[in-house]
This record gives sequence, C-alpha cells and structure tokens, in this order.
Amino acid sequence: MDNLGTDNNPLLAVIVGSGPSGFYAAEALIKSDVKIKVDIIERLPSPYGLVRSGVAPDHQKLKQAINLYKKIADTPDFNLIANVTVGKDVSVEELCESHHAVIFTCGAETDRKLGISGEELKGSHTATEFVGWYNGHPDYRDLEFDLSQDVAVIIGQGNVAADVSRILSKTVDELRHTDIAQHALDVLAESKLKEIHVIGRRGPAQAKFTPKELREFGELSDCNPIVQEQDLALNDESKKELEEKSNIANKKIYDLFTNFSKRELDSNKSKKCFFSFLLGPKEITGNTSIEKLILEKNELSGEAFKQSAKGTNETIEIDVGILFRSIGYRGIPIVGVPFHESWGTIPNEKGRVTENNGAIVEQLYTAGWIKRGPSGIIGTNRACSVETVNCLLDDLTKFNSEIKKSGAEGIYLILNDKNIRHVSFDDWAEIDAKEVELGKPKGKPREKYTYIDEMLSVIN
Ligand code: NAP
Repeated sequence: MDNLGTDNNPLLAVIVGSGPSGFYAAEALIKSDVKIKVDIIERLPSPYGLVRSGVAPDHQKLKQAINLYKKIADTPDFNLIANVTVGKDVSVEELCESHHAVIFTCGAETDRKLGISGEELKGSHTATEFVGWYNGHPDYRDLEFDLSQDVAVIIGQGNVAADVSRILSKTVDELRHTDIAQHALDVLAESKLKEIHVIGRRGPAQAKFTPKELREFGELSDCNPIVQEQDLALNDESKKELEEKSNIANKKIYDLFTNFSKRELDSNKSKKCFFSFLLGPKEITGNTSIEKLILEKNELSGEAFKQSAKGTNETIEIDVGILFRSIGYRGIPIVGVPFHESWGTIPNEKGRVTENNGAIVEQLYTAGWIKRGPSGIIGTNRACSVETVNCLLDDLTKFNSEIKKSGAEGIYLILNDKNIRHVSFDDWAEIDAKEVELGKPKGKPREKYTYIDEMLSVIN
C-alpha cells in the first residue's frame, strides 16, 4: 500500500464538533502538505457551534467568521456529517476503526456551578440557557424566562455576562433586525425589567469584559449604565495592575467604568444597568422562586495579577426576580474519551489526548475549549487547532497505514443501519438558504429554525 498521506492512501481524519475550533482544525489539515480527507461530525443539523448559537445576535460582524468556514467546507476534501451524536449514534471506538485520527472540538457545553444554596430555585438560570434560547438553539428553545420582574441580576463580569445584560437592556427596536430568534424577541418585547445588576466578585480593575463590549453599554437607547464612584477605589495592587502596559484592556475597562460613574442619569431612559464589584454570591432565597440574593462584601488579597476575592463576613441583600449565573462554561464528558472532571476538559498534551496520568491515548486529539477551557475570542481557536494538527501530522508515521480505513463510508453504514438522517453540507445549504429567505420580509439576516424537525423537513 502507498505511504499514508498520499493520493492513493490519504490520511482519514474525523473531527467531532463543527464550531470554530473544528473548522480551524479542518483548515489546517486540508492546507497541510499531506493528503487528508476530513469528516466533521456535528450533533445538530446546523454547523458553526457557538458562532451560530453563542455569539450575540447584535454582533453580526463576529459571525462573518462563517464566510471562511464556508470556503473550507467548499474544498473537495471536506465532508460534513451533521445531526449525529458521537457517543450515542456512533461510538468513539467506531470512529477509531473508520478513521486514522479523531479530533474532539466539541467545546464547553455546560456551565460552572456557583455551589450556593438556592441556585436551582425557579427564576435562577444559567447564561448558557438564556444565550441558547435567544439564539434559537434547539436544546433551549422551549425554556421560559419570566421578564415580568423589576430586577434582574447577572453574576459574573465576563463577555457572556455582557451579552446577557446587553440583550436584557436593549429595546426591541435595537434587536429586531438581528438574527435573534423570534420567540425570544416576542418575550423581550414584553419585558418589564427596570434594573439589571451585573455583579463581580473582584474589583473594577479585574473585570473580564473586553472594552468594545463594555463601551456598548454607553450607547444603549433606553438604558443608563451606572457605576457608583466610591466603588472605583483601588488598592495598591490593583493600581499596579492598571499601570502595567500589557494590561491596557483592563485600563480601558476601568476608564469606561469611570466614565459611566460621571455620566448624568438620562431620565428619559427607562432602564438602569448597574455594575457592582467585590460582591460574592452567598445564597439565593425564595419560597417557590427566587426572591433575594445575599451577597458577601469581598476584599482582594494577593499580589498584583494574582489577587483573589476574600469574604469579609459583611453581607448585603438584593431583591431579585430573575437571575443569570454567568461564571464560565465547562465541557461535558464523551463516552470513551478521558475527561478531567474538575477542569471540565479533555486532558491533553498540546492537543494529543492523554489519560489523567499523562499517558498518550493513540489516535485521539483535541482542540478549542474542550482542550484548554473556555477562554479567548473566536480567533484564539485558530492557533489552538493549528497546534493540535501539527502534533497529529508529526504522528503520521505512528498511524497504521496497512489497514484500509473506511472513512465516512463506514460511518454512513452505521447511521443507515440505525435509520439516522444525517445532514450533509449541501443539505445544510438548503436549510441555510431557507432561513435567509424567512428573515428577508422582517429585515433580519435570517430567521432561524429552532426545532430539529423543522430543519429536517426542509431537506426531506
Ligand atoms: P469569563 O470571561 O471567564 O468570565 C467569568 C466571570 O465569572 C468572571 O468575572 C469571574 O470572576 C466570574 N466568576 C467565576 N466564578 C465565580 C464565582 N464562583 N462567583 C462569582 N463570580 C465568578 O467567562 P465568560 O464570560 O463565560 O466568557 C468565556 C470566554 O468567551 C471568554 O474568553 C470571553 O471573552 C469569550 N467571549 C467573547 C465574546 C466576544 O468576543 N464578544 C462574547 C462572549 C464570550 P473572576 O475573574 O474573579 O474569576
């Protein structure tokens, strides 16, 4: 048989998950000098992961990454097998039989827990649920969010918290020409929220927003961003952090908070979005649903850039009608793949999957949030996927080039046996075109299908 990675004996790679890191891994494989055929398996009928169902609908520019993914999908060595769940419809063992290498790029699909009493009360939601719901993700389509309340609280000060609080702060007119799901727009149109509190456990110098995202709160048509001037006092270590040149983003964030604290309240605006700091969630209370959030005042301890929040035993209470925990995502395990329970990631060495004891697991690789945890912007995943693919290509001689692998054909046999309607990229293109068509009369980039059956009915 010809050497592996040549025209007559291409390397067969399968990627699990079609978000940014999956597409960047496919791109790196296809652009390499080695002859490779790439299959991407996706759980939903729609590709693009968080670019479709995580990126906020009012951030359409960020979704332009899809144009590159479409180009990758257009190359002859790329193949999408969507509407297929690895670990249920097809096993990891079967993928190792059909392909030389398997790359897991399945992201961080669930949330970290606060671990406080009342977290599960009605009215307490995760950011993942809300983001998935307004973005039309089928898993979250039928959730209900009661926005007939006066006060919403968002725990966490990262960009997901910024997305959630901005969507709650915007008017329907600010959202109607985005690709927000219609069911979400209808509920937001009836929102009675007056106050939105975005709460950080550390100080204003440690908030994890990016400046662009925070700046948008100063441009909202019906919401005043509010920061109390006294909350902007800094300890010496925080001052040191903001003086550090490489920490320019946090300096900009701090300046924006200062700007918000000096703004006059515009009494024509009906909502207020408060940014508060050094408050750690202690307990959520309520009878049938949430009523109060108890927060402990924190102080910072430790050296600059390593400061952590320590409780002072002094508490305050906020009356709250709806709460969103936005404190970071975590991955979920896949049957047959090692998993690091406390980190919520697949243990790996530069992308080569390892057992928890560090031993390399042959054939398995990982990239993106499930490899390194939920950090960075969309583009960060490109370098992460390239690192993984470089390891995979370095391992080329270790793959068994003598046994003929079936590639996608082997997977199709398994799926056909189980009567599973898999979705190709051409199928997806039909669904995509239909969504764009449905959006046109409303002036939206698309109206998303939010049920899997609806998507499949377009192609069946
Ligand atoms: P994140 O940036 O890590 O922020 C998590 C926030 O939760 C931090 O403020 C963190 O505070 C806080 N937190 C964590 N554990 C907590 C606890 N037990 N109690 C109270 N607060 C707690 O995570 P994210 O917002 O989920 O975003 C994930 C990644 O996606 C980030 O890299 C983000 O930039 C990216 N993203 C980007 C965009 C965009 O580019 N527009 C949009 C959305 C997301 P500490 O700092 O004290 O840990």
